[in-house]
Amino acid sequence: MSVRWGLVGASTIARQFMINAIRAQSDGEIAAVMSSSPERATAYARENGIPAAVSTLDALLKSDIDAVYISTTNELHLEQALAAARAGKHVLCEKPLALTSADARTMVAAARAAGIVLGTNHHLRNAGAHRAMREAIAAGRIGKPIAARVFHSVYLPENLQGWRITKPEAGGGVVLDITVHDADTLRFVLGDDPLEVSAFTQSAGMAGSGLEDGAMCIWRFKSGVIAQSHEGFTTKFADTGFEVHGSDGSLIASNVMTQKPAGSVMLRTAKGEEQLSFDREDLYSRSLRQFHAAIRGEGQPAATGEDGIWSLTAAEAALQSANSGKVVRIDPKLGSID
Ligand code: NDP
Repeated sequence: MSVRWGLVGASTIARQFMINAIRAQSDGEIAAVMSSSPERATAYARENGIPAAVSTLDALLKSDIDAVYISTTNELHLEQALAAARAGKHVLCEKPLALTSADARTMVAAARAAGIVLGTNHHLRNAGAHRAMREAIAAGRIGKPIAARVFHSVYLPENLQGWRITKPEAGGGVVLDITVHDADTLRFVLGDDPLEVSAFTQSAGMAGSGLEDGAMCIWRFKSGVIAQSHEGFTTKFADTGFEVHGSDGSLIASNVMTQKPAGSVMLRTAKGEEQLSFDREDLYSRSLRQFHAAIRGEGQPAATGEDGIWSLTAAEAALQSANSGKVVRIDPKLGSID
């Protein structure tokens, strides 16, 4: 039986990655797209070969679909996910799950009560590079992890220089856009949760309306690992990377904070340097495959709703730290709904 998807939002991310990822599944089908503008819905459906276009969520949820992929602007995720859960549709929701972690918890609780699968589309967990790093750490190949560094400052492409840099009410700003991914990827690779964060943010000339377009965060994890992460929209010439340094070795990954199955991971120990091999499957396609399996009752989405609560809780704490000038503790209980 195929999974029939309804797209909530005529978005760039769906057009660039998720439509292909759904169609890459042997059991994936896109039945309809919803846009708040009837004209945009029709045009988007035509351009992407989607059979139906609707302009209300109600109409989408009443159509013959099993799941929705929500990729509207961030302030809309909460109500759309709650409505989908009420209608018994599975939900794959973009990050950040909502504007606040309290709202994200409401979404996850509603999904649980409705018995539907809810996943967060943190694509980086699906990258072969990050899975290879997680496995190497879990296998003890760098000894005891001590410190991590994430380089994830990019240049926001011109076609995306809209709500992210102008609309606080839509959940703009680099922290809700990229720090959530870094918090999630650190948790995934280290197999650990952050306990404290200290952050500085800046407005380096791109974002307006009081929004930040750059952030540097320092995290302390439960195990004692300390980490730094740098997120930005304004650095045209920077590389991305992810490093984890341990007592017996270092993992040094280059060009891996990306939407493509790209980059390299090098393990350096007393024995020398080794390039780790890893699979190059499309990140979004793997996310979909795991989500379909979760619908069949086999395992969980690559990033669950609770992972989405965690990443948003961490991002919120980073913003709070930047605004207050203080170190902010992250209550581990806030990362779950139990
Ligand atoms: P877009 O700006 O492309 O789309 C967001 C919404 O903007 C759409 O739902 C659409 O509303 C509206 N919109 C799109 N084009 C137009 C237009 N020409 N005129 C007016 N309104 C328009 O956002 P993104 O695709 O970049 O991001 C969407 C979500 O996905 C966000 O939550 C973001 O954080 C997340 N994201 C996640 C990524 C990942 O790798 N996990 C990567 C990129 C984004 P309507 O549907 O009503 O037409």
